[in-house]
Amino acid sequence: MGASDPRSRGGLASPAPDGDSIGARSWSDPAPGAAGRPAPLAAASGPRSVVKLFAIRSVGRFSISLTSVTITGVIAAAIQVPAIQSCEVRRAAAAEAALAITSVRMLRRRSSSRSAVREWELIHLHLSQGSPSDNVRPVEAPATRDVDLVVVGAGLAGLAAAREAVGAGCSVLVLEARDRVGGRVLNEDIGGGHVVEVGGQWIGPTQDRIAAIARDVGVDTFPTWNQGENVIEYADRLRRYTGTIPKINPLVLLEFGRAQLRLNQLAKRVPLEAPWEAPGAARLDGQTVATWMRRNLPSKRARRVFELGIEAIWAAQPEDVSLLHVLFYIHSAGSLELLSDTEGGAQQDRFVGGSQLVPIRMAEQLGPGRVVLGAPVRAIRQSSKEGVTVEADGVSVRGRRAIVAVAPTLAGRLVYDPPLPGFRDQLTQRMPLGTVAKCMAIYPEPFWRNEGLTGQGMSDAGPVRLTFDNSPPGGSPGVLLGFLEGRRARELGRLPAEERRSAVVDCFARLYGPRAAKPDAYVERLWAEEEWSRGCYGCHMPTGAWTGYGPALREPIGRLHWAGAEYATVWSGYMDGAVRSGERAAKEALARL
Ligand SMILES: Cc1cc2nc3c(=O)[nH]c(=O)nc-3n(C[C@H](O)[C@H](O)[C@H](O)COP(=O)(O)OP(=O)(O)OC[C@H]3O[C@@H](n4cnc5c(N)ncnc54)[C@H](O)[C@@H]3O)c2cc1C
Repeated sequence: MGASDPRSRGGLASPAPDGDSIGARSWSDPAPGAAGRPAPLAAASGPRSVVKLFAIRSVGRFSISLTSVTITGVIAAAIQVPAIQSCEVRRAAAAEAALAITSVRMLRRRSSSRSAVREWELIHLHLSQGSPSDNVRPVEAPATRDVDLVVVGAGLAGLAAAREAVGAGCSVLVLEARDRVGGRVLNEDIGGGHVVEVGGQWIGPTQDRIAAIARDVGVDTFPTWNQGENVIEYADRLRRYTGTIPKINPLVLLEFGRAQLRLNQLAKRVPLEAPWEAPGAARLDGQTVATWMRRNLPSKRARRVFELGIEAIWAAQPEDVSLLHVLFYIHSAGSLELLSDTEGGAQQDRFVGGSQLVPIRMAEQLGPGRVVLGAPVRAIRQSSKEGVTVEADGVSVRGRRAIVAVAPTLAGRLVYDPPLPGFRDQLTQRMPLGTVAKCMAIYPEPFWRNEGLTGQGMSDAGPVRLTFDNSPPGGSPGVLLGFLEGRRARELGRLPAEERRSAVVDCFARLYGPRAAKPDAYVERLWAEEEWSRGCYGCHMPTGAWTGYGPALREPIGRLHWAGAEYATVWSGYMDGAVRSGERAAKEALARL
C-alpha cells in the first residue's frame, strides 16, 4: 500500500471548521481550565493562497520591527492590505494578524496580553463584517475542539501515546502535519502488490514494545535475507566475508574487537535516565567519537571500517557526535552487536506488508475522528484558565494536557506562548538530525542470492556505504537497498536526481556485478528534504549537549509532555524507542490530568 493510497487514511479525519482565541500566561500554575477561545488559523489552500501571501507579506512587513511596532500597527496592516476584498480573505488576514500579534507579544515578552486579546477581538470583528457585495464563497472559521489530551504528530510515538490514553478512557485528538500517518516510517508502492520501506523498517531482539504492538494490530514479521556471504569493497578490492565484521587483516580485526569491547564496557556505566551523571561524564561529553577513535584505533584501516559503522548507526560523521552520546545509545540498545548485527541484532526482521502497516493499523484502531491529517501544528499556548491550546492549520484544539511527539529539532520550531524556558529551547538548538538517503534498485529477481550472497555489503569508496537485500518476503522482485549517510548523503543530496541514481547504481554494479547496473526501477527518499522530518534516523547529541542540557530533555513544561524516539531510554532512536516514549509520555500526562 503506497503512502498516498487512500486506504492508508482509514479512520482518520480532515480538519474541521470553527474557533478563535489568544490565551497564555505562565508555564507554571497549570490548573485545568474550561472556557477560552482558541485563535483561528486559516488553512492556506487553493486560490486564496496568493492573496494570503499579500496579507502575510504586508503583516510580515509590519512585524519585522517587532520591538517598535505596536499591535495597532499590525491591525492596520491587516486591514489595509488592498487585496483583502472577500470575507474569506478577511479571515485569512485575521488569522495572519493573530499570528503576527502572537509574534509581537512573544518578542516584546509582555506579561500582560489582555490588550492583545482585546485588539485581536477588534480585528476579528472588523474583518468578519464582510460587505454584502462580497461574491467569494464564504469559508468557515477553523474548528475548535476540546479533549483531555492533544497529541502533536502521528508517528509511532504519537500514536502509541494516543493508544495508551484511549485505553485509559480519555478523549484524545492527534494532529498530524502530513496527509498520512507513520512519520519516519513509510511504505512505497512498487507495483504488483509489493511495497518497499523508504523509512524505518527493521526490528530485532529486545525491541519488545514495537513487537507487541505489531502483534496486536496483526502485522507479522519475516527474517531479513541473511544467507550466504557479505561483500566489502575496501582499498579498491572486493572481498567476501561472513559475520558482521569483515576479515580484512588480523591486526585490524584485533584492534576493532578491542575498541568494540571497550565501548560496550564504557556504555554500561552510562545511566539511561541521566547520561550526564555517568562517571567522567564531562570528559566523555567533551570529545567526539572521532577523537576517541584516533586514540583507541591506532591504524587508519581500522578507523576507516569503524567510521562505516558510526555512519551506519548515527547517519553522521564521527566528528559530529559526542562520545557520551554514542555510549548512551549503545547502552540504550544493549550493545554494539545488538545495534549492528543482522541475525540477533537490530536488522534481524522485517514486517510483512511493510513497516508503515503498523502505524496505519494503530491509527485505525484508535477509532474514527481521532487523527486529523494535513494539520501542521504552528503554535501551542498554555494558560492556567484555558489549559493548553494547540493551533494547527484549520483546527484549534484545547486540551487539559498535550504531548508533543515530534523530533526535538522540530519541536523547537513551534511557537510557544509563553515561550519555552531558555534551557529547554537551547537543548532543541543542539539536537541535529542525521542525514540519510535510502535508495533502492529493483530487479526481476534477487540475482545475488544465486551467487551465494546475502546482499549485505560495505564500501569504503561509496557513495553507498551499506547495502542490504530488501526484497519482499516471497523473494520477488529483487530489491537492493543502499544507504547514503552523513557526509555522502549531504553531497549526493545536492546532485540532480539522475546523477545521484547513476552514482548509486554504479556502486551496486561494483559490488554485485554488471546485472546490478540495469535495474527495472529505482526508488529513493532523501529525509533531510522532508519538511516534517528534516533528517533521520534520529537526532544526535554533539559534544557538551548531554552534560549541559540533558536534564531538559524529558522534563514536562507546564501541561506539555514530550515523546519521540529521541526521548526513549531504551532503543533510543528506533521504532521501539518511539513506542516506548509515547507510552511513557501518555502515562506521565494521564497521571496529572
Ligand atoms: C531511512 C530511515 C531508516 C530507519 N531505519 C530504522 C530501522 O530499520 N529500525 C528502526 O527501529 N528505526 C529506524 N529508523 C528510525 C525510526 O523510523 C524512527 O525512530 C521512528 O519512526 C520515529 O518515530 P517518532 O514517532 O518518534 O517520530 P516521527 O516518525 O518523526 O513522527 C513525528 C510525526 O510528527 C509529524 N509532525 C512533525 N511536525 C509536525 C507539526 N508541526 N505538526 C503536526 N505534526 C507534525 C510528522 O509528520 C510525523 O508524522 C529509520 C528512520 C529512517 C528515516
